[in-house]
Amino acid sequence: MNKPIPTDTGLPRSCHDYAPGLFIGGQWVPGNAIPVVDPATEEVLAQVADATVEHARAAVDAAHAAAEGWSATPPRKRSEILMRCFHLMIERHEELARLITLENGKSLADARGEVTYAAEFFRWYAEEGVRVRGEYQIAPSGNNHIIVEYEPIGICVLITPWNFPAAMATRKIAPALAAGCTVILKPASETPLTAYALATLYRDAGVPDGVVNVITTTKPGPVTAAMLDDARVRKLSFTGSTAVGRTLLAEAARTVVSCSMELGGNAPFIVFDDADLEAALDGAMIAKMRNAGEACTAANRFLVQDGIHDRFVDGLVKRMAALKVGPGLDESVQCGPMITRKAVEKIDALVTDAVSRGAKVLLGGKLLANKGFYYPPTVLTDVSRDAMMTEEEIFGPVAPVYRFSNPDDAVAFANDTEHGLAAYLYTSDVKRGLQLSRRIETGMVGLNRGLVSDAAAPFGGVKQSGLGREGGAHGILEFLEAKYVATTI
Ligand code: NAP
Repeated sequence: MNKPIPTDTGLPRSCHDYAPGLFIGGQWVPGNAIPVVDPATEEVLAQVADATVEHARAAVDAAHAAAEGWSATPPRKRSEILMRCFHLMIERHEELARLITLENGKSLADARGEVTYAAEFFRWYAEEGVRVRGEYQIAPSGNNHIIVEYEPIGICVLITPWNFPAAMATRKIAPALAAGCTVILKPASETPLTAYALATLYRDAGVPDGVVNVITTTKPGPVTAAMLDDARVRKLSFTGSTAVGRTLLAEAARTVVSCSMELGGNAPFIVFDDADLEAALDGAMIAKMRNAGEACTAANRFLVQDGIHDRFVDGLVKRMAALKVGPGLDESVQCGPMITRKAVEKIDALVTDAVSRGAKVLLGGKLLANKGFYYPPTVLTDVSRDAMMTEEEIFGPVAPVYRFSNPDDAVAFANDTEHGLAAYLYTSDVKRGLQLSRRIETGMVGLNRGLVSDAAAPFGGVKQSGLGREGGAHGILEFLEAKYVATTI
């Protein structure tokens, strides 16, 4: 367990010290080991504990024991604790960024951006938590006085993916705690160190024992089922693939647990002839290459109108070719490794399939020989709409370009997917952009912007990209229940 940390990480502690066990009721609880692999080197960084069903039940017990005290804590006091979480994240910014890069592989610039974004959820919900209002109304009949109060929903199970190890956790924990709920977080087994480092940070900020519990496991199915089957658990907030989301929705039905689902995407990035070319290219690089393409909001299909197509493709190839691929801890690298060997193989299979259906490879498209899970920045044109990558998330640095002439065809193609998370539109005509954005079936649209994530905005999808919203004023409502009192005053 005590493998010394690689010396060139800039981290003050060994990886093991960030995660000495499961974090249950404020204690570090030992368990069997799960290896955490550095995707840049394929070396094992640390072993984290592997929770059993019994550990999961103990975590629910701990969350239950803390629930009454936390929900009765005055909102102002909760808010002050959340604000301390924000300040501690900013204080430990560089350390957290390096830890994210180490276990996830993303570039340091991306990791630093993630820590800032993740910390913002604490600041935002420290501010929102003291402004939860009730409602009062006299019924139209005049007989009934309607009083509505908002109560914490209860114990929450939070499950997060590996692509944003800090932000996906704080986007759930901050509003849950602001609402007065206690939680059990199950982070992805590829990137648990950040989640455990943050558990220590919450304790340092004054979050009472048992309010946040963190468990990792190699048996996510049975461990989650054990928690959902406990009648005290009333909320499941999941971020991950649509396939696992579907399974969890069925599991949650057994005890009728409230579900928020942030699932997969298949974002179209539509460039119209009248777009500002440089702005569209800037946006394309962010929408495609943030996190080396490993983002649910990543541009998955570039739809480019005839008149600007060739100039856009030229610019995209130049910019993608200029990216340096390598270990994320190297400051000069913009494109780190993918999360696993399996992820690289999936990307390669999608590219091979597209090429077999006529796609032209203008850049990249070939596996790299280095150690580590690398895939090169790749640009494909003439991609067939039948290619597998047209419907599947690529989740890597591959930009497929599709040409269109007629805007109605572009909208129909953009909507021709079971997903509906994010879309990007580039046009100089903002009125037209707003009109088109209403016709696009997604929860979020970037209009002349390649980035939609913002702690102050409602993040989420329609269709099979999810249920509910995270962030903004909406995010806290996912962790509150309306209590209606009927009275005659
Ligand atoms: P994933 O395979 O669905 O895993 C997500 C989480 O679910 C992990 O913690 C995983 O644990 C856990 N899990 C897997 N099977 C489970 C089960 N049967 N019961 C309970 N938990 C289970 O997704 P991923 O590969 O980590 O993440 C990539 C996906 O997340 C992409 O589809 C991406 O679009 C989506 N995503 C969506 C958003 C959004 O906001 N909409 C944001 C980020 C990512 P283990 O790691 O232990 O398997």
